[in-house]
Amino acid sequence: MINFTVGPVQSSDRVRQIGGMNVPYFRTPEFSEILLENEGLIKEFTNAEQEARALFITGSGTASMEAAVMNCFTRDDKVLIVNGGSFGQRFVDICKIHEIPHEEIKVESGKNLLESQLGSFENQGFTGFLVNIHETSTGVHYNTNLIADFCKRNHCFLIVDAISSFLADEFDMKATGADVMITGSQKALACPPGISIIVLSANAVNRVQSNEVKSLYFDLKNALKDGVRGQTPFTPAVGVLLQINARLHEIKENGGATGEQEKIAYLASYFRNRIKDLPLSIYSESFSNAVTSLETHNVSALEICKVLKDEYGIWVCPNGGALGEKVFRVGHIGCLTTGDYDVLINALDDLVRRGILK
Ligand SMILES: *Cc1c(COP(=O)(O)O)cnc(C)c1O
Repeated sequence: MINFTVGPVQSSDRVRQIGGMNVPYFRTPEFSEILLENEGLIKEFTNAEQEARALFITGSGTASMEAAVMNCFTRDDKVLIVNGGSFGQRFVDICKIHEIPHEEIKVESGKNLLESQLGSFENQGFTGFLVNIHETSTGVHYNTNLIADFCKRNHCFLIVDAISSFLADEFDMKATGADVMITGSQKALACPPGISIIVLSANAVNRVQSNEVKSLYFDLKNALKDGVRGQTPFTPAVGVLLQINARLHEIKENGGATGEQEKIAYLASYFRNRIKDLPLSIYSESFSNAVTSLETHNVSALEICKVLKDEYGIWVCPNGGALGEKVFRVGHIGCLTTGDYDVLINALDDLVRRGILK
């Protein structure tokens, strides 16, 4: 199988080799060193300030989305949420459960967030802002500067879910003034699922330290304290943390976050340039390098995903819900080459010849 989904994605040989080994005991100075190294490299790749912290949470990306909201906001906040798809809706659901006062900016599926849509929310007393900078369900990448400027003007605490965007699109904690950035192991980090990462600015660390959280596992104060010595309060996904370490070194050796972004951007443009003659159109208005979402016209998108899987050994990413019949996604993250895209394009050409893709 060749995997073009948006996670889990294909891993490098070095990362896969670690997956075949026994998982070591972790309350050791050797493991602490690895965790501290992971924190340092994540901070480097997000350009976080010196006093920022990176926490490794054992749980999928949603665990860190929920932990970030629980630890950074209270019932005294008023949070604005960009909701342009299923991940935006997830932040809305989290705020509802934890009774964080919030309002939504509804963005039409596949469309970008416009400056004019933010206008009516200026000077309305918002204290926080939640955005999935790449709304992976539709492939839309929102304008980071537009959001960062709004937050600076309105003094909003900004939490950015960059789970599928980190390493695929440019992102800079200091330049955007973001207080929190979240990512996960199974997207462009190209490791197995199981770990999500929360980068906290110095301001965010202060907020976490002074908030009461009604949770044992998700109270980040303990994670902050143990993290100082390279440890975690509970048993983490040790093997995945070792794989993340190998992968971060691999990225560092190949030009850092910028080198990885360039590689992913190159694969994305290689694919996009070669599908122009196919009966498919690009669904999203402003896209991330991580994924291309494609709209079918006279055939079910789910059917295309199924035929590619069953007859060609290729996974592309189906959409859930209302978009399922008309949109599928092709990812550009993970260990992929232009040769892999040639295989996919040949398969799509073949589907046209067979009259399946029309
Ligand atoms: C993948 C993803 C998540 C996390 O999903 P999990 O299944 O919980 O790992 C969250 N937000 C975005 C934008 C994502 O792409």
